[in-house]
Amino acid sequence: MPIVPPPRLSEEGVRRFPPGLSGIPPSELTAWLAERGEPAFRTRQVLDAVWRSGAERAADASTLPAALRAALGEAFQWDTTGSTEVTIADGGRTEKALHRLADGATIESVLMHFPGGPGRRERHTLCISSEAGCAVGCPFCATGELGFGRDLLAAEILDQVRAASRRLARDGRRLTNVVFMGMGEPLMNLDRVLEAVEALNDPARFGLGARHITVSTSGVVPGIRRLTALGAQFTLAISLHAARDPLRDVLVPLNRRWPVSEVVAAARDHATATGRRVSYEVVMIGGINDTAADADAMAELLRGDLAHVNLIPMNPVAHTPWEASPPEAIERFAARLRAVGLPVTIRGNRGQEVGAACGQLAAERAGQPAPNAVAWRRRRLEQASLAALRGERTDEVEAVVARTAR
Ligand code: SAH
Ligand code: SF4
Repeated sequence: MPIVPPPRLSEEGVRRFPPGLSGIPPSELTAWLAERGEPAFRTRQVLDAVWRSGAERAADASTLPAALRAALGEAFQWDTTGSTEVTIADGGRTEKALHRLADGATIESVLMHFPGGPGRRERHTLCISSEAGCAVGCPFCATGELGFGRDLLAAEILDQVRAASRRLARDGRRLTNVVFMGMGEPLMNLDRVLEAVEALNDPARFGLGARHITVSTSGVVPGIRRLTALGAQFTLAISLHAARDPLRDVLVPLNRRWPVSEVVAAARDHATATGRRVSYEVVMIGGINDTAADADAMAELLRGDLAHVNLIPMNPVAHTPWEASPPEAIERFAARLRAVGLPVTIRGNRGQEVGAACGQLAAERAGQPAPNAVAWRRRRLEQASLAALRGERTDEVEAVVARTAR
């Protein structure tokens, strides 16, 4: 198959298309309708048609008058997720959707079905993207390898949720949880992500309880503080990966800007303000961040906190020299955290057969990186991780700050 270079993306590029209707705040929608001489009750009708009707196009929103449907169809995009390709994995328990947006950007969302059991309701969790690509550049992540394309608009974030909801509704099912764990760093696209979480939580729009909405971040401290200031009980997940700065500098380059102690302090304040446990995510990489010393540093850092630790074996990614930690190493790591009273879950990596790890499917479509680029990156990572294991912090701070300061 020929390798097609990814399109050059920009905010101006996507702004050439009509705005997505789901991203228009209700007050603006009311003003737009009033300009057209529509009565006040239309706002509610249009919101219901957008969020609850299951209509795939404005023309199908049969609760609205035909002239209004036509006007909405001309002024707005009913669905910004454009063409969507769905791949099913895990015997039907995981559905991976690849969306091609108006300007050609490709993003992904993953729908996971968890069966109910005694005392447990069935869950349908959607993992969504907040950016096309990502500027943070964590070396174990396929999205990081893609680099940064552009921020998604609020409607592009929300329409991933609407598309999955429509698919579920066909079988009489409902989405129960939304997690911002797809492509991109949500808190680097802060305004749009906050608009999107408010729309998801708003009873007049998607109406999902704040506790069922999880924002995952690699540690953008001012963003965490703004999420907390919204005042709702949104769940916060921190991609921690290492408790010591030298190693976290390598695994999460943003650590050079906001070090571990600041990230955990902001997360603690979120837990205090909301009464909700913070989830700490740790991608387990063999021989890199899974040693007894790493476990003890993490136990010391989080001991006594309102926290839950998820240990996730690393999914293989082409450009790293690393592999997942062996199961015994993960068990030993978990035991050291549990010894100080921290709740720990060891996760399987769902949907691996279709590349459900962060950004993997989209990365495959962008073409594999050239072998010499892969070899170069591997050498650099080996050197950086060796230095980190010796406890040395490298001096690439300026480059990282420049890349992430937007
Ligand atoms: N940028 C945000 C949210 C998206 S990444 C963040 O980093 O938190 C979502 C999760 O996928 C993160 O916890 C990340 O560490 C994890 N992830 C990325 N690459 C992975 C890989 N190769 N194997 C397993 N998990 C991975
Ligand atoms: Fe970006 Fe998250 Fe991937 Fe890091 S793990 S590169 S922050 S998407």
